[in-house]
Amino acid sequence: MNKFWSETVKRTEPYVPGEQLDDPDIIKLNTNENPYGPSSQVTEAIQSELTRKLHLYPQSNAEELRHEIGHYYDLDKDHIFIGNGSDEVLAFSFMAFFEQHGKIRFPAITYSFYPVYAKLFNIPYEEVPLNRDFTISPEQFFGAEGGVIMANPNALTGLYLNMEAIEEIALNNPERVLIIDEAYIDFAPVSAASMVKRYPNLLIVQTMSKSRSLAGLRVGFAIGDPGLIEALMRIKDSINSYTIDRLAIAGATAAIKDEDYLRETTAKIIGTREWIIPKLKKRGFHVLPSQANFIFISHYKEKAEPLYQALKQLGILVRHFQKTDINNYLRITIGTDEQMAHFLRAIDHIVPTSA
Ligand code: PMP
Repeated sequence: MNKFWSETVKRTEPYVPGEQLDDPDIIKLNTNENPYGPSSQVTEAIQSELTRKLHLYPQSNAEELRHEIGHYYDLDKDHIFIGNGSDEVLAFSFMAFFEQHGKIRFPAITYSFYPVYAKLFNIPYEEVPLNRDFTISPEQFFGAEGGVIMANPNALTGLYLNMEAIEEIALNNPERVLIIDEAYIDFAPVSAASMVKRYPNLLIVQTMSKSRSLAGLRVGFAIGDPGLIEALMRIKDSINSYTIDRLAIAGATAAIKDEDYLRETTAKIIGTREWIIPKLKKRGFHVLPSQANFIFISHYKEKAEPLYQALKQLGILVRHFQKTDINNYLRITIGTDEQMAHFLRAIDHIVPTSA
C-alpha cells in the first residue's frame, strides 16, 4: 500500500498470468497457446504492412477487420467490436454492461479474470457453484440481478454447454446482458454467434490467441447486437481510440480469411486431445471431457502440486491453481503430438507404476 493509491487501486487484486518462459527447450503447456503458429498469410500481411505504413495511425474502428469477421459469421460489421486481446474486450464489456446496482453471476470455477474486473469496477458478484462433476446448471443463471458472464467451453474445465442451454440463459435474463466468452470455441462443436440476431442481450467474446495462434499479436473481438457494439465503441473511444495497431489489424485480417489453415490446425489439436485422453486415463488420471485445446486432469493417487513441480524439473510447464476446490487438478494445454508424447514419457518417469 502507498498513501497515494486511490480507492480503486486499493481494492484491485490483479490477475496473475501463467509463467512466460521464452526458453526454447521448455515444453510450454501452461497458457493454452497454439503450438502450430499462425498462417503464413499472416506473416506475409504483417511484413507488407511493416514496410509501408507505420508512420500513419491505424484505422481507429478497424473497419476492414470488422467486415471480415462479420463476413465469417454472416453478419455485418456493425455487429463486431475489436480489442487488444479479448481481455480488453472483456474489461470494456464489464464497464459497458455491468454496474453496481445488482450482483452479476459467473461460475465459481471459470476464467479468473472475471472477479478481477468486477473488483476493479466495483461491480458486486455472485460465484455460482458448479455441480460435483464440474457441469453448469443453466437455471442457476436465470434472473441474474446484474447480468451473467461465463466461458464456453468453460476455462479450466474445458466443458461445453450446448446451444439450448445458452439460449435459455439469454431468454431468462431479458433485461440483463449475457456475455459468453468463447475463447476456445473453435475446438468445440458450435458458436452461439448466430444467436446474436435473436437476442439483443447476448454478447459473444472471442480471441485470435488460441485457434488462430496469435497470442502475441493481441487481438480479440465481440459479436453482438449493434446496440451493444456501440456501447463498447463509446468506452474504447473514451479511453484510447487506437487499441489495435496496424500490424495487428493486418495480421488478424489475414488470419480470419485463411479458413483452411484454421480448420487444418484445429483438427490436428482436437485429434491430439482425443489421442491423449485414453492414455492418461490408463495411467490413473481422471480427465474431464474437454472441448477445448486443454485438458483438466487429476491423478487418483498423486497430488497435483508435486506433479507440477516434477514436470517443471523435467522442462515441462503446465498450470496448477492454488484455489482449494481445484488444487488437486492440473490444466494441460494440448501441444503437438511430439510434445504430448514427451509429456507422457515424463509422467511415466515421475509415476512409474501408472503406465
Ligand atoms: N477468456 C478466456 C476464457 C481465456 O482463457 C483467455 C486466455 N487466457 C482469454 C479470455 C484472454 O485471451 P486474449 O486476451 O489472449 O484474447
